[in-house]
Amino acid sequence: MTRVLVAASSALLVAGLIGPAWGQDARPPQIETKKVDGTDNVYIFRNGNHQAMFVVTKDGVIATDPIAYGRPTGGQAYVDEIKKVTDKPIKYLVYSHHHFDHIAGGKAFKDAGARVIAHKNVRVRLAPLGDPNTVMPDEVFDKTKTITLGGTKLELSYLGLNHSDSNIVMRLPKEKIIFVVDTIPVGTVPGRGMIDMYPLESEQFIKTVLAMDWERLIPGHPGQPNGRLGTKKDAQDQLTLLQDASAEMKKLGQDGKCWDTAEKEFKLPKYASWPGYENGLPFIARRYCGLWGRGT
Ligand SMILES: [Zn+2]
Repeated sequence: MTRVLVAASSALLVAGLIGPAWGQDARPPQIETKKVDGTDNVYIFRNGNHQAMFVVTKDGVIATDPIAYGRPTGGQAYVDEIKKVTDKPIKYLVYSHHHFDHIAGGKAFKDAGARVIAHKNVRVRLAPLGDPNTVMPDEVFDKTKTITLGGTKLELSYLGLNHSDSNIVMRLPKEKIIFVVDTIPVGTVPGRGMIDMYPLESEQFIKTVLAMDWERLIPGHPGQPNGRLGTKKDAQDQLTLLQDASAEMKKLGQDGKCWDTAEKEFKLPKYASWPGYENGLPFIARRYCGLWGRGT
């Protein structure tokens, strides 16, 4: 069924009947670096469907997330992209959370002299796994840490469980920009990321983020459409989506219908036109069945 749908939408794409998610242009390049509009020194590095923020200052670079899972040259490619922008040294590499799709590939940054910083649970999660492609943090923190470099401040905050138990908010107070990975997708329905989501805590997380001082959100996967950045409205929309999903599954779960029946009956028609709906729905259903049908 999925294969048929994919084939059908590819045919429509070829026929020019529907536009690709990135607009009318041809497929975007695998790797792309863009300065964020209205800033002097904030950049987004994208590799495929993953992206990370880096900040260039007069005293060096603060980079985040190597995003090189399954991309053996991805870490070095990211370092090379930074070197096209500046000859300043890469001083820091900050991990958003412990998932390999965002943080594999840090060796190139270590080799370039960067200090790797993450929430303390990143170390706890990575240590037993010994992933050969993922560098352990040099330094971890519990609640907050501020990096100050060359006149730029980057605030790191752990606000409690949300997507995983190690996901942080990075905020540039002067630029009023935040970088939040996976918990607050921009313009899309959440998908596989639900597998390590704490649903009720994530609602509280988004409320806390909404109360912070910022104007634009850089997501860990390109926002839709056209790789756009998020606003507070996008964050509010994701919160509403989680609340709607939770309420829908609550009925099914408390009626004793988890797993099979509830997962079949679970729908969120209000979001059917959002990118990622068909693919994301089963993950959302499974996660909320866990909550309302198993108490976890
Ligand atoms: Zn993740």
